Amino acid sequence: MTDVLDPGPLDASDPLAGFRDRFAPAPGVVAYLDGNSLGRPPAETAERLAAFVRDEWAGRLIRGWDEGWWTSPTDVGDRLGALALGAAPGQTVVADSTTVLLHKLAHAAVRLLPGRDEIVTDAGNFPTDRDVLDAVAAERGLTVRRVTTDPAGGITPEHVAGAVSERTALVSFSHVGYRSGWVADAAAITRVVHDAGALVLWDLSHSAGSVPLELDAWGVDLAAGCSYKYLNGGPGAPAFGYVREGLLAEFAQPVRGWVGRAEPFDMAADFVPAAGIRRLLSGTPPVLATVPLQVSLEMLAEAGIDAVRRKSLRLTGYALDLADAWLVPRGVTVASPRDPARRGGHVTLTRPGFAGLLAPLHAAGVIPDYRAPDGLRIGLAPLSTSFAEVHAGLSVLRELVEL
Ligand SMILES: *Cc1c(COP(=O)(O)O)cnc(C)c1O
Repeated sequence: MTDVLDPGPLDASDPLAGFRDRFAPAPGVVAYLDGNSLGRPPAETAERLAAFVRDEWAGRLIRGWDEGWWTSPTDVGDRLGALALGAAPGQTVVADSTTVLLHKLAHAAVRLLPGRDEIVTDAGNFPTDRDVLDAVAAERGLTVRRVTTDPAGGITPEHVAGAVSERTALVSFSHVGYRSGWVADAAAITRVVHDAGALVLWDLSHSAGSVPLELDAWGVDLAAGCSYKYLNGGPGAPAFGYVREGLLAEFAQPVRGWVGRAEPFDMAADFVPAAGIRRLLSGTPPVLATVPLQVSLEMLAEAGIDAVRRKSLRLTGYALDLADAWLVPRGVTVASPRDPARRGGHVTLTRPGFAGLLAPLHAAGVIPDYRAPDGLRIGLAPLSTSFAEVHAGLSVLRELVEL
């Protein structure tokens, strides 16, 4: 009898299987199920970082700024835009952290619609997003309306339609929810927001490099996200920010600095912002810190985001099959969407007392992600995760749940 849960045939028929061996080894790790929080480094990353220090930093010294460093925020941004965001060149930069970029973008957005006094988000959004929106609202004299959503689901166009009005300046959500992995219908929600005359800001932290994005086609105004999750940019890697081209001329962000000037080297008396997306920048670009992201983007270019998404759906589908067979009968709840169209790159399992399983899971070489109060997130980075790894990791969880 064939075992429908056997990972063998799934790995054997996986067109992306070969990518897994190109990641640096992780000694003692049986199953890394946290690529949604910190992606693994490709093996090549260490050599590329060393080469940058040796050849570019040491070899070129200050001359490096004229040989690609200065334009790296937009060069890498454009590449990321083409490979993962559905963004034409000239609208994306790599800079700062997600938190800082969200602040800059949200602040700029509410300034663009001065007659409006509300920001809409959802109560289940990631803490930094809520903090940023609260802070911008307080600074600019707006109020934040928080929509309540199903913790195992997420924001819908209907929720948004019920929350926006002629008072709404800005609407901001995570495209993929950090708890449930719910994929919001960004195209439809963006339309609802625009029909109300407001601007939309999407947090793409859990989608970039996992779920294909079409920012230009969807008419998205503003977006930001991090590059250390599915984009394998490394701990604290710089984030990315997107401003729709049509907004750029009027766009003014609050952290002014010389790198965002039209003519940074004129040392002129007054600030004149750069004509294009460079006006989102503030200070010196984090050149060294974008080296790992460039390696990962080369890998993503080889694999293709659509193939990544296809594998992602197979991985999450497989994790759901294993959970249904092994864990749900033992009191575990699946707190993620089952509909493939609404399912992001991770699956959340909940059960009271899950926090206590983290230490034994780690001791067995299984590294999931934990989110209080009782959620284990099974993060499945398509390029670095095999089906056998999912099987191995959830087998250990099954044994612990049975104890
Ligand atoms: C990971 C994540 C962030 C991270 O923000 P940092 O500034 O990089 O710490 C922000 N928003 C969401 C939705 C995230 O998932």
